Amino acid sequence: MRNTDTSGSSTEPSTRRSVLKRLGGLLAAPFGIGASAYGLDRSYQDADGDGIPDSLERSREFNGWLHSVFGEQFSGLDPTRRDLLVDVRYVGEWSVSDPTRERIVELFRTNGIHLQWLEHPQRVDRETFEREYGYNAKRILWSPRSFYRQAIEPRLKNVAFQLIVVPGFADGPHERRLYSPATAAHNSDSTGYVNGVNTGNRAVVASRYSHEIEAKLILHEIAHYALCHSRDPANTGVMGTNKEIDLMDDEWATLRGGLGAIRDTTGVDVLLRRCLWDELQPAQFRLPPGLAAHVGCSGCQAEDA
Ligand SMILES: [Zn+2]
Repeated sequence: MRNTDTSGSSTEPSTRRSVLKRLGGLLAAPFGIGASAYGLDRSYQDADGDGIPDSLERSREFNGWLHSVFGEQFSGLDPTRRDLLVDVRYVGEWSVSDPTRERIVELFRTNGIHLQWLEHPQRVDRETFEREYGYNAKRILWSPRSFYRQAIEPRLKNVAFQLIVVPGFADGPHERRLYSPATAAHNSDSTGYVNGVNTGNRAVVASRYSHEIEAKLILHEIAHYALCHSRDPANTGVMGTNKEIDLMDDEWATLRGGLGAIRDTTGVDVLLRRCLWDELQPAQFRLPPGLAAHVGCSGCQAEDA
């Protein structure tokens, strides 16, 4: 794993919203994003701060729809509780193991976030997926014709974190890995082959045989919605030295306060993820220089050993 964080992480929702409002038009131009998206935030009521508007959490129709998609896995929304819906998409036959799922759910709930692990009933055919998207993070997560853009129901994009679990490359030097062109282009000591990639409100991970490695990798990629890598040697969690399947107390606090990051906002969250700014070198998009937070995530290489 790369340990290049310099400042921990403190992406506060209020700051994020103010940046969105200030820079709306500017960001919209190079990426073709509708500048009206952030205007919606002005009427946004979210008492529990989980990024899901109160109106939706109270909506019987919306709760009913989630039940219809996920069945008994979905335990309802509550406007007084911090929920994190993780919408899990499987490609091929692989499933995340029960111990991993239970561990992740328990960890989040113990730390004040009511995570609901929602496995989407529709598996994605492996052959079709490989033909359409390959194991290329850009084609899976953020290109205009990506799996995320084409396959995820719009109603889920704003309320749930999408976790896409893929087999990864078959036998060979990059077995069970993915390719991330952003990592390859902007990190000179990386080949771009990684175990997982997060772009704010969505992530893709390659499947793992070991329950412990699987749990660490998945916790790592979910946590990236609000956290970057840590190079503090005292950080034994999955964003630091990766010794324990856990996060530091301050990191849990950042996650609790950063649930707004799971909102899709038509792609803006991807652009504002602090780790990504560093990888993409904002200067190449001619954006204001002050935006480049020197956080330094450069692809998730959570090791298998
Ligand atoms: Zn990472």
